[in-house]
Amino acid sequence: MSSNISESLNAAMKKAVDYPIVSMVEFIRAMLMRWFWCRRTLASKTKSKCTLEIEELLLDHLKESKDCGVLSVSNWIYQVNNGNGCVFIVDLERKTCSFRVFDVLKIPCCHALSACRVQGVDEYLLIDVCYFVGAWMKKYESLVMPVPNEKDSDIPEEVANGDVNPPRTVWGCGRPKKARIPSKGEVHRKEKKSDEMWKMFWEWAQQEDMLYAYLIA
Ligand SMILES: [Zn+2]
Repeated sequence: MSSNISESLNAAMKKAVDYPIVSMVEFIRAMLMRWFWCRRTLASKTKSKCTLEIEELLLDHLKESKDCGVLSVSNWIYQVNNGNGCVFIVDLERKTCSFRVFDVLKIPCCHALSACRVQGVDEYLLIDVCYFVGAWMKKYESLVMPVPNEKDSDIPEEVANGDVNPPRTVWGCGRPKKARIPSKGEVHRKEKKSDEMWKMFWEWAQQEDMLYAYLIA
């Protein structure tokens, strides 16, 4: 089993893992440098309080909240009836809803938002701080620098003259597997073949440029 994040990273580095270790590490470094720059630039141009995805999700929840009916239990606790006759309990002080979406995502669900309107609470006070643009920028504030030329660095003599032997790895018979063995019922998509590492990197970089241009338009 692997998470979506590791699956995405594995897919981004799928071709690079075939290259010698120095080229592979340089590919990953250049990829991270570009990712950080794109996300830092996008975050600095974002005018909303939260990230674009969270703002869209909030709008969806606001639309759904129009069908909800709210009854007060206390100043902070509410009974919320949705359009299908289901009843949920919202606690704005503890930031919970018995539907559990609010508790898990840390983003107010449609029931919590309908209760917000009754209480006059700003819905942004109920969103977790990690979804705000400030926290987003903070995550990508570090710079991934290019690797300096070897001749410009002072390398200690014992490192420059030392012997570095390959690890004592015992390989099993047969060709090593490249693709993860899919789980039962899982279907893998076929992907295009590409031989050149940098060709793939720049193709991917252009896609990121298009996405970036679309997002800031
Ligand atoms: Zn809810």
